[in-house]
Amino acid sequence: MQAIDLDLETLAEPIQDTLRVCALHAFAYCPRLFYLEEVEELYTQDAAVFAGRRLHEEIDKQEDKEWLDLYLEDEILGLRGRVDALRTRDGETIPYEHKRGRCYRDENKQAQAWDSDKLQILAYCCLLEAALDITVREGRIRYHADNVLVRIPLDDAGRKWVKDAIQQARELRQSPYRPAVTNNEHLCSRCSLSSVCLPEEARLAHNKEWHPVRLFPQDDERDAIHILEPGTRVGRTGEQLKISRRNEAEEKISIGQVSQVVLHSFSQISTQAVHFLAYKDIGIHFVSGGGRYIGSVDTRQGSIQRRIRQYQALSQSDFGLELAQKLVSCRGEGQRKFLMRGKQKLKLDATELEKAIARMKAVLKQVARVKSLDSLLGIEGNLAALYFGALPQVLNPDIPDALRFNGRNRRPPKDRFNALLSFGYSLLIKDVMNAILTVGLEPVLGFYHQPRTQAPPLALDLMEIFRVPLVDKLLYI
Ligand code: SF4
Repeated sequence: MQAIDLDLETLAEPIQDTLRVCALHAFAYCPRLFYLEEVEELYTQDAAVFAGRRLHEEIDKQEDKEWLDLYLEDEILGLRGRVDALRTRDGETIPYEHKRGRCYRDENKQAQAWDSDKLQILAYCCLLEAALDITVREGRIRYHADNVLVRIPLDDAGRKWVKDAIQQARELRQSPYRPAVTNNEHLCSRCSLSSVCLPEEARLAHNKEWHPVRLFPQDDERDAIHILEPGTRVGRTGEQLKISRRNEAEEKISIGQVSQVVLHSFSQISTQAVHFLAYKDIGIHFVSGGGRYIGSVDTRQGSIQRRIRQYQALSQSDFGLELAQKLVSCRGEGQRKFLMRGKQKLKLDATELEKAIARMKAVLKQVARVKSLDSLLGIEGNLAALYFGALPQVLNPDIPDALRFNGRNRRPPKDRFNALLSFGYSLLIKDVMNAILTVGLEPVLGFYHQPRTQAPPLALDLMEIFRVPLVDKLLYI
C-alpha cells in the first residue's frame, strides 16, 4: 500500500524551493545527515528527538515568550523556519534558539555555541531581516543542560556564511549521491541518524583495517501496540490514538508513546488513523488470527536512489553470495552457541549433544568454501537438522509434556511448541519489515531467499540473524 501525502504546504511551495533552517543546521553538523533527511527522507523518532520536542513545548507555554509561533519564509534568501522565541531588548529584535544539551567550551573553558547551532541562529537572524525588513544585530542560544546563554552577533561575515551554506546545501540536494561519512567520528555518537547511516560500517567497508566502534542506538521508549481482540477499532482523536474494544472503556494513547501498531485478526483501523500514523512514520502491520504475518503499510516516498543502489549491489552474484555466506555463518554460530550454553546451564553430560555441537562446527567451516547459493542451502539444511535434532536435549526438564519439542513442523504447526515458535517468527518478520521500511530499503530485493512465497526475501534474509536471540532463546530454557 502506498500513501501519497499531498499536504497543502507542499502544494503551496514557491517555484524557488526554500530550505528549512533546521535542515541548514543538519547541513552544518554533517552534510550526510542533511542528505539523509532532506533527500532520502529518513528521520528517526528517538528519545532525544522527543525530549527536544518536549523542551520546545515547555518553552511555548512560558508566559513571557513573545511572538508565539512565528513562522517565516523568504524566497529570495531561500529559507523558511519557525523561530523558537523572539524578544525585543533595548529596541533590538533578538531571536532565541533553545537547545537541550550542553554548550561547547573553548580552551579557556568559556561557553561557546557549536558551529551548527551558530549557523542556525544566524540563519534565523538573516530570515528575520529578509522577511520583516528589519536589522538584526544578534541571536541568542540557551543551552539548558548547563543553563548558559550564548550571544551570537550577526555581521557581514555571518550573513555570507549563511548564504554560502544555503547555496551548498541546495547543490547537495540535487546530487544523486549520498555524501561520505564525516571524518569527525565524535559527531556520529551524538547523531540521531547513526542507526540508519551506519557510519562505522561504512568506514569499515572502505578500510578493512578500520576498528569499528559500536554505536548503540538510543532505547526506543515507545511501545508497539498490539490489537489482539477481533472487532476492536483504532481511530484518531487529536494527537492520540483511540482504541475502542467491545464492552470496554475507550483507551487513548498519545502518539509519542507509539512505535508501531500491529493489528491481529479482524480488528479495524480508520482512514484517519492510517493517515496520521503514516504521516508520523509509525509502522502499521497486519497479522492473521492464526499468527501469520500478512503485510505492512508502506509509506516510503523518498528512497528511490537507495533502492537503485540496493538493486545494483545485489545484482552482483558474488556480492550476494558473500552476504549469504555471512548470514548462514551468523545463524549457524548462534544456534551452536545456544546449544553450548544450554548444555552448560543445565549441566548436561550428553554425548549426543556434544556430537551435534562438534558436527555443527565442522559444517560451519564449509560455509566459506561454497561457490553457489544451492550449495549454501544444502549446508544450511544440515545445520538446521543438527540444531533442531539436538534442541530437545537442552529443554528445561521442568517443562510440562504438552509444551515439549519433538521436531520442527509448520504450515500449520502441529503442537504448542511449534505454534509458539511460528508465532514468534511472525512477530520477528514484522519487526524486520518495520526496520526495512524505516530505512527505505526494498523488501522484495533479497540476496539469499528466493521470491517464491508471499514473504519478502530481504525480510526473510535478515530475520535469520535474529531467530535464535529473539525467539528461540525465549522458548527453550
Ligand atoms: S552518523 Fe555520522 S556520518 Fe552519519 S549522518 Fe550522522 S554525523 Fe554524519
